[in-house]
Amino acid sequence: MKKRVYSGIRATGRLHLGNYLGAVKGMLALQDSYECIFSVVDLHTITVPYDPKTLRDSIREIILDYLAVGLDPKKCYLEVQSKVPYHTELAYLLSTIYPVSRLEDLPTYKDKKAQYPKYVNMGLLYYPVLMAADVLLYKGELVPVGMDQEPHLEVMREVARKFNSMFGQTFPEPQRFKTPEEYKHVPSLTGEGKMSKSVEGSYINITDDLKTIRERIAQSPTDSGQEGGEVPKKGPVANLFTLLRLFSSKDTYKKFEEDYREKRIRYVELKDVLAKNIYEELKPIQEKRKEFLNNPQLVDSIIEEGIQKCLLIAKETIREVKEKMGLS
Ligand code: ADP
Repeated sequence: MKKRVYSGIRATGRLHLGNYLGAVKGMLALQDSYECIFSVVDLHTITVPYDPKTLRDSIREIILDYLAVGLDPKKCYLEVQSKVPYHTELAYLLSTIYPVSRLEDLPTYKDKKAQYPKYVNMGLLYYPVLMAADVLLYKGELVPVGMDQEPHLEVMREVARKFNSMFGQTFPEPQRFKTPEEYKHVPSLTGEGKMSKSVEGSYINITDDLKTIRERIAQSPTDSGQEGGEVPKKGPVANLFTLLRLFSSKDTYKKFEEDYREKRIRYVELKDVLAKNIYEELKPIQEKRKEFLNNPQLVDSIIEEGIQKCLLIAKETIREVKEKMGLS
């Protein structure tokens, strides 16, 4: 039997370059050789402030993004998490064997608490348990996600180990599928932290046109350009150079690095080249997206088929888990 792969993205906005390089490139690499389930994790989405009126559309946008980047429904199942209620059932069952103190210590929980101090809810604390359930529900062995998710993967393995030792061998211990080193942390345009949907001004979406990409990059702060020497390792200029490395030829990167060293860098020129190169990579994705956007019935049937298949697999895991836990 083929190994199973599971990954999900929250429906808080369109896919951005961080999601694309950090997670989706891994999904694309795996879909040919594994049984893959790629989800829109809407139950995770609602743990931070959100608008219920737009959630449904946001879920659909992510599905369209998935299809546009080349996830192929003939090779993988696309899932909407809340349509497979077994996720929450398994999360509850697993939560009974996992200590609260470990969850309170997780860096992701602490970050979100700091970001939304008035919105520290149970769901936020529960996030890693639900995420463990997401993957274990399908006995997923590989999880193509960004580096920021590594602490959650550790929780997943701990949960799997504990369950196996208490109730008998049931779950594999999932591993993160690592995309290339340079994709693991796509930096924010603000100059601080990672590119993220929930940080305004930090991201470029894969659906952005050239004008929007230019505008977003234009907002990114720089220095005077007169510092010279080595390109800084941290901050907005460092981030622009990282993006340049990700989206340009070696020669182009070297040219700007040299310009920086020699104190003759023109950020307007760098930003223009960067915007054009990013758009070149995104253009074919956007064209494919339009085709799916114009064929809503096809998209509906892809979603429905994915959910039906997922329900079948998930039901069997829940049956097995409940039986082992004495709940049958
Ligand atoms: P966001 O933080 O933008 O809301 P999600 O939490 O939905 O993104 O993450 C979806 C996937 O994209 C995860 O696998 C995550 O590791 C990956 N990811 C998100 N941001 C980045 C980034 N800046 N660089 C690399 N990978 C990222």
